[in-house]
Amino acid sequence: MAVGRFAPSPTGSLHLGNLRTALLAWLFARSAGSRFVVRVEDLDPGAVREHFVAEQLSDLAALGLDWDGPVERQSAHAGRYAAAIDALTDAGLTYPCYCTRREIREAARAPHGPYPEGAYPGTCLHLSPAERERRARSGRDPALRLRAGGVRVGFEDRLHGEVQGAVDDLVLRRGDGTPAYNLAVVVDDAAQGIEEVVRGDDLLASTPRQIHLGELLGLPSPTYAHVPLVLGVDGARLAKRHGAVTLADLAAAGTSAPQVLGRLATSLGLAADGEAVTPAALMDRFDPAALPRTPWVPELSPAPPPARAR
Ligand code: GLU
Repeated sequence: MAVGRFAPSPTGSLHLGNLRTALLAWLFARSAGSRFVVRVEDLDPGAVREHFVAEQLSDLAALGLDWDGPVERQSAHAGRYAAAIDALTDAGLTYPCYCTRREIREAARAPHGPYPEGAYPGTCLHLSPAERERRARSGRDPALRLRAGGVRVGFEDRLHGEVQGAVDDLVLRRGDGTPAYNLAVVVDDAAQGIEEVVRGDDLLASTPRQIHLGELLGLPSPTYAHVPLVLGVDGARLAKRHGAVTLADLAAAGTSAPQVLGRLATSLGLAADGEAVTPAALMDRFDPAALPRTPWVPELSPAPPPARAR
């Protein structure tokens, strides 16, 4: 049976945008009779806050979304990321990178061919052996990058159609030892047998990288559907400052979780304004071909004032 997934990072509360993506991932999977799993992407020790793990899962459940089997946490799978990085290194496909953030920012500003904005220009690939030696002695722990060779990758997205992109020398492991998102997501999707990736279209530009990594590692490639984002009135990606955007804020503003589900469904053309719906009822109405292709800009009530510390 096919498997779909939702893979939130517990770095904050889920907002309407995350919840809408979760609903869509659930609908894609369940309406096709697929399994659906949740994976907690908790690799970044500096950004993860443990209490968001339980909160995010209970928010999904409050919307009526269910999942199969235990929730997997990336932090429990260090071994499989290390094995993938070792395999790439053994194949001569990695190199250490000593660049600081600032050096990368400055180098990436110069135009360098077909790469997406912010792509790594390959500075450390071209270090002379003496220079590499000098940098290695500087005491700075290097990141490990993929030697991508400027390959271009194309794929068919279920909503965007044919997408093409150049793969830069992306980070596989950060200087602090943390496996990078692009590596972990590819390894995990394969380990969990994920056949369909449904996620926000802010990740569209990363997908060629992930497909290329999967190919190098000999892993099967899932299908992709990158769904439109939810934006604030200023056109920026939805955030707390835009108003009541989390289930807790919405509840405080008088909107219950089932009502939020109704609003999400309406925004997707799956329910009439104010109609009470359940996820199961939406399954019968769901048609990927009829999904909106543009961002949703919801009307928001003001966020409640932060709870006072007691
Ligand atoms: N954890 C990522 C996020 O919350 C999503 C990763 C993915 O769906 O591939 O943005």
